[in-house]
Amino acid sequence: MVIVKIGVLALQGDVREHIQSLSDCGVDARAVKTKEEIKEISALVIPGGESTTIAKLARAFDLMDLIKDRIKSGMPTYGSCAGMILLSDVVKDAIQGQETFGGIDMVVRRNAFGRQVDSFETDLKFKGITEPAVRAVFIRAPWVESVGASVEVLAEITDATGLKHPVAVRSGHLLATSFHPELTGDNRVHRFFVENICRELAGSKG
Ligand code: GLN
Repeated sequence: MVIVKIGVLALQGDVREHIQSLSDCGVDARAVKTKEEIKEISALVIPGGESTTIAKLARAFDLMDLIKDRIKSGMPTYGSCAGMILLSDVVKDAIQGQETFGGIDMVVRRNAFGRQVDSFETDLKFKGITEPAVRAVFIRAPWVESVGASVEVLAEITDATGLKHPVAVRSGHLLATSFHPELTGDNRVHRFFVENICRELAGSKG
C-alpha cells in the first residue's frame, strides 16, 4: 500500500473516473478544489475535460499560483488530455490568454487530431507497461509537437500522413497522456504513476 494522498483536481472534467482508477490501485484518492485541500495532498491528478475552463476556474478560485508552485517544487502530478495541456509549458491553438500550470518542457497542440477524427480509440505501446497494449481513448485530444531534453516519450501515435507524435510523456515527477486511461477500466497507467512516480519520490525522501 503506497502512503500518498492523491488529489484529483475537481474544478471540471472526469474527476470521478480518476478517483475510481486510483482507488482501484489501492491509494487514498479524493477530489480537491480548495487551497487547504491542495496544500494537504502529496500528489495531484488533473483530469480530462476542457483545459480553458479548468484554467479559468483555477485562476478565479485563486488556485493557479499555488498549483504552479507545488508542481514546481516537486509534487508528483499526472494530467490526462486537458490535464496534459495544463502541464505543458507551451500550448498551440490555445485560446487567447489561456494559462497553464506548466512544468513539462514541451509544446502541445490542442485538438490536434482534427474534426473528422475528434474521438477514436487505438492500442498503444507504452514504455514501462508490459503487454497487452494500452487501449487509448482520444477525445478532442492534444498531441505533443516537441519536447525538451528532460522529457521522456512513453508512447507515440502515427498520424494520417505517417508522422509520429508523442501522446504520453514523463518529465521527472510529471506524467501526461493525450488519452484517457480513466475511461477504460484498465488502471495500468494510474498504477505506473503511483508506483513509478509517487512511490519513487516518496522513497527518495527517505
Ligand atoms: N480539447 C480539450 C481541451 O482543450 C481537451 C479534451 C479532453 O480533455 N478530452 O482542453
